[in-house]
Amino acid sequence: MEKYKCKSVGIIGSGIQGICIGLQLIKKGIPVTIFDRLDPLSLEYKSASYGNAGHFSPYAVLQFNRTDILTDVPKMLLSSNGPLALKWNHMLKMTPWFFHYLKNFNQKSMLHTAKYMHQILSLSNDAYEDIFKEIDMTNLIEKKGIIYVWTNKNLKSRELEIKVRNDLGIEQKLLTQKEILELEPNLNPVFDAGVIYEDAMHARDPHGILKKIFKLFLSKGGKFIQENISSLKQSNVRETIIKSEKNEYTFEKSVIATGAFSKNLTDQLGEKIPLDTERGYHVHFKNMDHLVSRPIIFLDRGFGMTPMRQGLRAVGTVELGGLKNPPSKKRIEYIVKCAKELLPQLEEYDDEWLGFRPTLPDFLPIIGPSLKNKNIIYAFGHHHLGWTLGAITGKIISGIVAEEKTNLDLSPYSSKRFN
Ligand SMILES: Cc1cc2nc3c(=O)[nH]c(=O)nc-3n(C[C@H](O)[C@H](O)[C@H](O)COP(=O)(O)OP(=O)(O)OC[C@H]3O[C@@H](n4cnc5c(N)ncnc54)[C@H](O)[C@@H]3O)c2cc1C
Repeated sequence: MEKYKCKSVGIIGSGIQGICIGLQLIKKGIPVTIFDRLDPLSLEYKSASYGNAGHFSPYAVLQFNRTDILTDVPKMLLSSNGPLALKWNHMLKMTPWFFHYLKNFNQKSMLHTAKYMHQILSLSNDAYEDIFKEIDMTNLIEKKGIIYVWTNKNLKSRELEIKVRNDLGIEQKLLTQKEILELEPNLNPVFDAGVIYEDAMHARDPHGILKKIFKLFLSKGGKFIQENISSLKQSNVRETIIKSEKNEYTFEKSVIATGAFSKNLTDQLGEKIPLDTERGYHVHFKNMDHLVSRPIIFLDRGFGMTPMRQGLRAVGTVELGGLKNPPSKKRIEYIVKCAKELLPQLEEYDDEWLGFRPTLPDFLPIIGPSLKNKNIIYAFGHHHLGWTLGAITGKIISGIVAEEKTNLDLSPYSSKRFN
């Protein structure tokens, strides 16, 4: 029997998922067109994949459906000056998300999420290394690990994280305050201890890396069309139609990789997927990247700093507020305050940015075919870890498109869990 070969694929979204999927497909000899309303090579491009903290975090298996924070969440939501915030006008719209979140807020779901995040996270760095072999990565990546610091206030949470990671065999090295200061002497010692993930790496310019992967995709024959996509459907067994306001395109298969914006398209396909967004922010302290050698995350504050080409990028907070609310000045002020607490020498900042983490209420992404339209494939919902998971998602989705066998258990990532 002749081996199946997909004739054409349309990908909606040129974030890190869309671009990595495109690259893997074109490498298999399948013609691909990526659509995005923004050109990844332009200055206007400001997706989540542009402004994130740049951590490649294969260890980050625990997410916010963790049992230790159950009593803290309402308290944090009511405080306007903490790491978690809520835009009250979005509450009603978020009801389905909260409903599923509460269902997943237990020990069993927490460990299920950790196990299946680990399955893909443990492959994530190798998947990137394969791509990086084909790109000049000079000054784009640093391999110095990532440090998390904490105070002794929430030690129960720290113990839980350490145990879950130990159980999964994830390497972690606990550090005393003194050891942290030896590695990062400029830090103000307002923390008590921490951990370093020595195998972790960070991007010195996430957008710069994304542009390089995108150019590699184009150089191999991939196509890009800058248009806003308004609808998508499967018209018959071997045909999907992507429509923009002006044009209509036909492909054998299509992929939805529009991050936090994917719900608009999946609703049209008749699937009830409770995707929402955790909004996050960044600012840059220009020319201050020399103050730390690697990313530092202050767990008690829900914020972190990454040394980048653009300066020291201070990033963080989770704001539940949907896609349409304007940015919140208070969130920016919070991040700036946290950064200055760790590095009092910081002064002026600029480049205020708001980004949308695509988050499902069980904190697993959706990677796999649509339930009703088998030629439409989903690749979204990577929440806090979409940058880390871009390359491995590209590999998995390209395998699904090409109908290849895999040893991975992909069933936990199916949208079936919500339908
Ligand atoms: C503050 C912050 C910090 C983060 N830090 C990290 C980190 O350190 N490490 C990590 O692993 N992850 C991190 N993340 C998460 C990560 O950035 C995201 O999960 C990831 O970028 C999502 O990638 P994506 O390709 O799914 O979506 P996106 O990057 O959002 O791309 C989606 C694309 O789809 C396009 N699009 C949407 N709708 C349409 C339409 N209808 N028609 C045409 N185009 C459309 C958009 O223009 C966009 O370009 C962070 C996120 C935030 C917000």
